[in-house]
Amino acid sequence: MPISFASRLDQVETSAIRELFKLLGKPGIISFAGGFPDSAMFDVEGIREATQRALSEEPGSALQYGATEGYPALREQLAGYMALRGAQGIQPEDLIVTTGSQQALDLVGKTLIDPGDKVIVEGPTFLATIQCFRLYGAELVSAPIDADGVQVDRLEQLIAEHRPRLVYLIPTFGNPSGATLSLQRRKRILELAVEHQTLIVEDDPYGALYFDAPPPASLLALSAQVPGSRELLVHCGSLSKVLSPGLRVGWMIAPPALLAKATMCKQFSDAHTSTFAQATAAQYLRAGRMPATLERVRAVYAQRARTMGEALRAELGGAIDFVQPHGGLFIWARLTGAGGKLADGSAFARKAIEQGVAFVPGAPFYCAHPDPATLRLSFATADEARIREGVARLGRALDA
Ligand code: PMP
Repeated sequence: MPISFASRLDQVETSAIRELFKLLGKPGIISFAGGFPDSAMFDVEGIREATQRALSEEPGSALQYGATEGYPALREQLAGYMALRGAQGIQPEDLIVTTGSQQALDLVGKTLIDPGDKVIVEGPTFLATIQCFRLYGAELVSAPIDADGVQVDRLEQLIAEHRPRLVYLIPTFGNPSGATLSLQRRKRILELAVEHQTLIVEDDPYGALYFDAPPPASLLALSAQVPGSRELLVHCGSLSKVLSPGLRVGWMIAPPALLAKATMCKQFSDAHTSTFAQATAAQYLRAGRMPATLERVRAVYAQRARTMGEALRAELGGAIDFVQPHGGLFIWARLTGAGGKLADGSAFARKAIEQGVAFVPGAPFYCAHPDPATLRLSFATADEARIREGVARLGRALDA
């Protein structure tokens, strides 16, 4: 008998990206497709030491069930980490630890979204958020972005028109767009939240991965300057891109009432994030290794981003248009179709695979009105020589 699934699953489909990832096993392929940090960059020694200290100093709690809100030592360390990142005055009890920031997004959906609720997201935005919010029945509305992030005038119109349950933004080094919201727009968005009494979800897994200068302060940090905005703000953070995604340590900062409901839902879901992973992360942060780790990964990604940008300009010239990112993991590009060359990201992705290089076409990242000419290229996991070779293959694919 065929299994009959819950009707909420009708809202989502297996992503086109997942299908593409199946092809990545092809021998010799250079991948610009993943959203992963480079595993060669993991601070294995630091994590080993942190693990050993967790086991020798606190085995009873590190291996035991723990509080749903999170391991106390980690909540304390994360509050300190947020202060380092410019958000002063966050107390350990203002945040809960989640199993990756992905779970924080799921808890946002679970606690706030009823079927039929409108939710505004950027076009393009993080694919897993599109899928996750749709599972809860959200009707997604796409707000256009440009090089300075979401267009606030348009966002204001959409908020007024749709009265959304919440607005979901990746203000800093967006996935997939690489775009960063300007300081002026950040302040305006916080004002809009207050004027329209609309919840804003700030997803910020990449903010610490800047290349030259730090990005503008997070919405969370800026909320101190806009009275009434903190009560309307949810901030999701993660150690995945800066330390290790395998640890599955993320967090959520939200007004107390929402945090309480999210904690309740988390309790029924996974009881708590792995205490062992949390104890390890807390030991790591306490040992003070994070600043050096951040400097190291920033320098490597900055160089790779430069290399990829230069190679794209040299190999693909006028056939491709992109803004050089100032942080994060991605170059978001658009095929111009100049000279009669390919202008469809999906067709280009197929040709690229034949040439031995993979990337993700941009269309699936839009909840509506996809731009088929777009593509996302990750510069994070290939070293510079492979980036150059991969981009040369892209050039051949475009000419093929
Ligand atoms: N948000 C964004 C924008 C992401 O790109 C990612 C990871 N690709 C996540 C959230 C989830 O990350 P994690 O669960 O590993 O913290």
